[in-house]
Amino acid sequence: MLEFEKYIREIEDFPKPGVHFKDIMPLLANSAATEKCLEHLLGMVSDLSIDKVVGIESRGFFFGMLLAQRLDAGFVPIRKPGKLPYTTLKEPYLLEYGMDALEIHEDAITTGERVLLHDDVLATGGTARAACNLIENLGGKIVQCNFLIELKPLNGNQKLKKYDVKSLLKY
Ligand code: IMP
Repeated sequence: MLEFEKYIREIEDFPKPGVHFKDIMPLLANSAATEKCLEHLLGMVSDLSIDKVVGIESRGFFFGMLLAQRLDAGFVPIRKPGKLPYTTLKEPYLLEYGMDALEIHEDAITTGERVLLHDDVLATGGTARAACNLIENLGGKIVQCNFLIELKPLNGNQKLKKYDVKSLLKY
């Protein structure tokens, strides 16, 4: 067990019955644990030549921004529809029940830029896959998909087969 793992709390039946939600807020509330976790996330990045770190709304922003600073890269948010102020590219994706979508600013990544995608949790992989599509539609090259937590039984990595997928904690 990694030293900071005890700061990840499991909440039963959130946001709906049957879901065991991994809550990273106690981790973020502890500076030393956050630093340790960041060091481990950086340790997974085998190719350090990164132009942009892309974080997915909203919990992907926390370590995404920290990773960007440490990698001397820019940070780019991918957000839910209607949240970004400038012109966006939109990517719809399938949820368990219904559809959702993600957006990115059209000028956030330029052709050929090397991108590290980060999110807190990889579950079914639909969110990360939609994010990858947005990055590639802007001409970005995805160097790695980097997650703090992977929920293995949900097989999210199947949707990300063509990428280098790294997760720090697997449940
Ligand atoms: P997916 O599209 O099913 O892979 O879901 C991943 C997205 O849902 C990520 O943006 C996560 O932040 C969020 N998510 C799914 N499960 C959890 C969880 O247990 N804790 C925190 N976020 C979660």
